[in-house]
Amino acid sequence: MPKIVGVLAVQGDFKEHIETLNEIEGVEARPVKTSQQIAACDALVIPGGESTTIGKLMERFELDVPVREMHAQGKPLWGTCAGMIILAKHIVDSDQWRLGLMDITVQRNAFGRQVDSFEADLPVKGIDGGPVRAVFIRAPYVREVCEACGVEVLAEVEGKIVLCRQGKLLASAFHPELTDDRRVQEMFLGMIDD
Ligand code: GLN
Repeated sequence: MPKIVGVLAVQGDFKEHIETLNEIEGVEARPVKTSQQIAACDALVIPGGESTTIGKLMERFELDVPVREMHAQGKPLWGTCAGMIILAKHIVDSDQWRLGLMDITVQRNAFGRQVDSFEADLPVKGIDGGPVRAVFIRAPYVREVCEACGVEVLAEVEGKIVLCRQGKLLASAFHPELTDDRRVQEMFLGMIDD
């Protein structure tokens, strides 16, 4: 049985996530935008894009309900970039809508206007075989994590946290769907219970 991985398809770069996940054996990745579609998945990716827009659409269509239900059932959720902001409990200087599931404080557009995007080679805790090439686009970073809540820091750039995990929640400030390396995807898929 393939693992069904939903990619929230209300806004953002969901197509790239679906394409890269579908390269991996044993995975069926599909776009999801209704409660029923979300509920049918073993895991969910919330992609990069514009976090305020994704949040507004999730709120309007009450998509937080099936996503919270997945989380309660122990199914993994992965937020990349804007998706990471959606997962966070705290967002610096913002009252925008969020799921607020992960005990992290994120700062939006954290690398400054001058550097809209950049790439870096990141050593990642738990990933062997050399650093992971990471693409950052108007990226947020994680300013603070609640270690007592079980948040584990997996990678940093310039001393800023850009990849972390809390139980079945994974958050990345960068975009593994925009490179040829599938090791972060594999890490996420490994969080799905057999
Ligand atoms: N800066 C965007 C936001 O705050 C995120 C950028 C991205 O997802 N590439 O929503």
